[in-house]
Amino acid sequence: MTAVNTVSTIRILDQATVNQIAAGEVVERPAAVVKELVENAIDAGARSIRIDISTSSEGIADIRIIDDGCGMSPADALLAFAPHATSKITGIDDIHRIKTLGFRGEALASIAAVSRVTLVSRLRKSGVVTGTKVVVSGGEKIETGDIGAPEGTCVLVEDLFFNTPARKKFLKSKKTEIAHIHAILEGICLAHPEISFRMFIDQTEQLVTDRSSRLLDVIARMYGSDIVEKLVPVNHALPFIKISGYISLPSLSRKDTSRMMLAINQRYISSAILNGAVREGYGTLLPKDLYPVAFLMLDIDTSLVDVNVHPTKKLVRLSREKEIIRAIQDAVRTSLFGRDLIPDIGISSQSFPGDSSRHAAAEAEMHYDFTAPEPSGIREATHAGTSTTDRQLRQTELGTGVVPAEAKLPVMEVIGQFGGIYILATTYDGELILIDQHAAHERILYEQVAARIPDYHRSQELIVPIILHRSAKEATILSDLLPALANEGFILEEFGRDTFLIRAVPVVLGKLEDTSVIDEIMSDLVNEEPGRPVHNREKITRIIACRGAIKAGTVCSQEQCQRIVNQIRYAENPFTCPHGRPTMVRFSRAELDTLFRRT
Ligand code: ADP
Ligand code: MG
Repeated sequence: MTAVNTVSTIRILDQATVNQIAAGEVVERPAAVVKELVENAIDAGARSIRIDISTSSEGIADIRIIDDGCGMSPADALLAFAPHATSKITGIDDIHRIKTLGFRGEALASIAAVSRVTLVSRLRKSGVVTGTKVVVSGGEKIETGDIGAPEGTCVLVEDLFFNTPARKKFLKSKKTEIAHIHAILEGICLAHPEISFRMFIDQTEQLVTDRSSRLLDVIARMYGSDIVEKLVPVNHALPFIKISGYISLPSLSRKDTSRMMLAINQRYISSAILNGAVREGYGTLLPKDLYPVAFLMLDIDTSLVDVNVHPTKKLVRLSREKEIIRAIQDAVRTSLFGRDLIPDIGISSQSFPGDSSRHAAAEAEMHYDFTAPEPSGIREATHAGTSTTDRQLRQTELGTGVVPAEAKLPVMEVIGQFGGIYILATTYDGELILIDQHAAHERILYEQVAARIPDYHRSQELIVPIILHRSAKEATILSDLLPALANEGFILEEFGRDTFLIRAVPVVLGKLEDTSVIDEIMSDLVNEEPGRPVHNREKITRIIACRGAIKAGTVCSQEQCQRIVNQIRYAENPFTCPHGRPTMVRFSRAELDTLFRRT
């Protein structure tokens, strides 16, 4: 054993070091300073808040936040910089009733530990005419005194991270830091339509909202009025939660969650779980790789929300999380339900010669390609399907009698079929509707299978059972699926090592002369779709619907097309196939007239 060193190596850190370490958690970048100071202004009851950022060649030089809130007394202005100094709570129990954005009493102390802060504040309606000025640099108070000032508070932050070079080194480019500030402010502005915000960068106005108390105005201000036309309101109230705001029509979906803005009790938060709940509310209205746009304000009983999880408070812990998730899903579903969700092919999506950029932009927004199929599509179309098509149509017609029938779409009259894929139809309003026959029929069949109409799960025994070999891995997955498959009408038995005997399949799949279909179905089943995993039953339902529906490339008679159209009108969700692709798009007469320059 080596000799024990009697000199103590453990020491208590001095307060300045403690403060700098603590500061690192709260103030990781300039945007965090903006967030903390703006939140203080909001907590102070400000009606208007001005944010000025000035930059240098190196990055963000200084940050100034001015508010017309309650202001601080001279004593408070001094005390505010002490670590854990707050006027917002008195003890831990208050955290469960917290209505303010701040409560940890860390922000001013932390910011002042790593920069030079000048605070000027004057108490509102106090009769005192002067304000208080306090300057703190690197945690040291270097100046205090009286100063003439308007009511409210002004905080200026300079030389950020001057004494923490390591932190400074990790700052990203000026552009990135500004982008972070924008992101923070967007969330705050949306959560507080009752406050007017103005942000300037190097004296150039960047972001302005009026004191309107209307969320929709704030959205329009920040993201343009085009987006507003594609939003639907959400209003859902339960005893412990109220959900309000706006969500997008499916046609406005995006590749990421960056436009999913959720606030809990006016605190903008980031939660993959709650974003997932919103997404889930769309069900099969969205393809699996797309996300909606959402601006949702959640008012939740404060006793159910724990914001004391992370110093930046962007993460929250929720009690009764499952019920909250369910409430969000219901709110989204209810507000989409019963709406006309047929995407309009707006004029802008049509390319006039030399107008390819507009076309591309519009297409990107619609997220599906509306270019005509290659002429070869017509050649590939088969007539052999006529009797199969009739059988497939009869199958789903049987089901429509059972499903409660209320048409979701207007009466449509078929004009013809195009490319063996698209049905052209017209409404009495003179709109032209293009329908993807496979997607439409797949939707009809999907709903009927999912509704568990007994007929659809009836098995029909194969005259000759099919022997199916699988790889060891696939065989394992398949054995687990056997009970679920049996429920849906596929009767499979294990038949030696990695081999199965298929004895029966659901009636909806028809006579199955071509056994390769079964092989493909089993492949679909064992190969997990990337993205969101779905329940086995849902997966099997989708596969049956896809395989049992009329295929793209099948030439249908006008009468058969009309039958598809008649059936889709009664679908619960006639607008998308089970995978979230649109079943139909619409051209209004006015749009066509514009296209042909008749207006
Ligand atoms: P917290 O917000 O968690 O209380 P801060 O360090 O951000 O902690 O602020 C400390 C205290 O300073 C606040 O509790 C509040 O009383 C006061 N304060 C800070 N900023 C303002 C402001 N803009 N207007 C009025 N009071 C403020
Ligand atoms: Mg604060």
